[in-house]
Amino acid sequence: MQFFSTLKPKQEESCCNTTDQSCDTQGDNCCTPQPKGKEPCAKCGQKAKGVLAKTLNALLKPETKKKLECLDGFFYCKTPSCKVIYFRGNTILTQKDVSVVVGLKEEASPATVCYCFGWTKEKIKEQLDNSGETNALEDIKAKMEDPGCSCEVLNPSGGCCLGDVTKAIKEIKEEIGL
Ligand SMILES: [Zn+2]
Repeated sequence: MQFFSTLKPKQEESCCNTTDQSCDTQGDNCCTPQPKGKEPCAKCGQKAKGVLAKTLNALLKPETKKKLECLDGFFYCKTPSCKVIYFRGNTILTQKDVSVVVGLKEEASPATVCYCFGWTKEKIKEQLDNSGETNALEDIKAKMEDPGCSCEVLNPSGGCCLGDVTKAIKEIKEEIGL
């Protein structure tokens, strides 16, 4: 019942069962809450970053979580044309396993780029269409200060969205000829 141990407050960020003495002796090898380094996606071959079990716990559909014994050690593929969202070895999770629309993937709608404060590519494009400018980055940065962000449990990447937002703005500007 390793998975259920993640629900206890003290073990929030790991699937490790601390009553298992092997944890102490094996140190870091016992469990890998966030895989270090990058791994090539099983499908597209692009380098993918590790994600925390906490992120998957917040974003995977309950039926998918039930099938997985442990949520540690997954990687996130951000390639727009690739259908893979998370993978760990031969285990591949796609949009049907995730409870939010992964905005970075092709044809995603809404194409959310900032999950904490609700910025989508659609909203950015609308601003750029209307005024040639967007306050997305300024708005996100200000709100990161206050009230603060929760990327780890809201963003499928588990990380900060600023890089993705910057890229989206650049792409939309090129698309509409700004
Ligand atoms: Zn991929």
